[in-house]
Amino acid sequence: MKNINDSLSSLSKRIVTSPTIKLTSKVKSLLECGEDVISLGTGEPSFEVPSEVKDELVRALRRNETGYTEVEGTENLRLSISKKFKRDYSISYDTDQIIVSNGSKQVVYNALLALIDPGDEVVVPVPYWGSYPEMVKLVGGEPKYVYCDADLDFSLSSESLKKVISPKTKCILLNFPNNPSGSLLSKETVTALTEILNEYPRIILISDEIYQDIHFAEERPCSIASQSPELYSRTLTVSGVSKSYSMAGFRIGYAGGPKSLIKAMVKLQGHTTANPCSLSQAASIAALNECDEFILRNNEIYKKRLNNFLSAVKPAKGLKCIKPRGAFYVFISCRELIGAKTQQGNIIKDDIDFSMYLLDCFRLAVVPGSAFGVKNHFRVSMSISDSLLVEAASRLVKACSRLEK
Ligand code: PLP
Repeated sequence: MKNINDSLSSLSKRIVTSPTIKLTSKVKSLLECGEDVISLGTGEPSFEVPSEVKDELVRALRRNETGYTEVEGTENLRLSISKKFKRDYSISYDTDQIIVSNGSKQVVYNALLALIDPGDEVVVPVPYWGSYPEMVKLVGGEPKYVYCDADLDFSLSSESLKKVISPKTKCILLNFPNNPSGSLLSKETVTALTEILNEYPRIILISDEIYQDIHFAEERPCSIASQSPELYSRTLTVSGVSKSYSMAGFRIGYAGGPKSLIKAMVKLQGHTTANPCSLSQAASIAALNECDEFILRNNEIYKKRLNNFLSAVKPAKGLKCIKPRGAFYVFISCRELIGAKTQQGNIIKDDIDFSMYLLDCFRLAVVPGSAFGVKNHFRVSMSISDSLLVEAASRLVKACSRLEK
């Protein structure tokens, strides 16, 4: 039989799988063998889904809401989303300015499909969520990276942003609060974005604000579209229920934005997946309307975990933690440990080696910074119990103390 690889499209070959695949499969096999691995890699909250959501899901099933819905999501769900955007983000979107998709992942992909022509450039700040560059390539665009400075807590500086913009730029793909660094957007960068939009009439901002509800200061992170009428008219605001309400498996993401962009996205979704799951949509209405307390309670839990973890990991030699201001991750520099020797005589050459060392010798699973475009860092998720997180910190301290420089 002919080699099937010869039949695969050049597009499918250009898309890379995660650089951490070897590590992920090792974690999986160790867990399957019953090893005491502490997994700090998870990107979804571990809280139980709110009871209001469970009840509504069952009620919707009993009401037989099991057929197709409007491609863009039910009117009731879009109304609840519109209210949330107004209440929490201070942005007004009518229901015909809103689309609901299978997770915010599909929302971002639909938006890129609707906006990008071959050769268009999409500006992607680094660190980035691993799917962004691949999605840009999938639609024929070219990712252009703007590096956020680790020494400035990975904030996006206006000068570096302006440097990467060109007449070919079609989109700027922002994600604040950021996965993995937890950094927020500064007022200064918002001003720079306004200046860029004034100069380049074609540019659209896609602002992935999926972590908007999870933050550690009293004040909510800023939502770009709420900052000025100009930003409002050129921004697609993306969010979803996966992180805020611990509903990752329900696959409900949404966006509000300019009517014509939403219309194009709905058209594309109509020919690919059509509507997201009808029952998930019903359950999401309960989440959006009845679960503000759930978010507040979890923010307190994350805050406590963060403080406990940061104090427990402080004695670790060679690590530098950047205190996140939002999302539920800690992004840690292991730059000082590069070149160190393990007790087995191996040299740590980069973040992937360091992560493998943590797994092999201390049964700790983390995500190397390379998965987010930043070498010599690693990401820890706070989506595990307080006690396991503190145990993980103590293993990290031990792992660093056993390295010889
Ligand atoms: N955007 C960012 C920045 C994420 O970190 C994730 C998930 O980890 C997503 C989007 C995807 O979320 P969803 O479950 O809504 O597709």
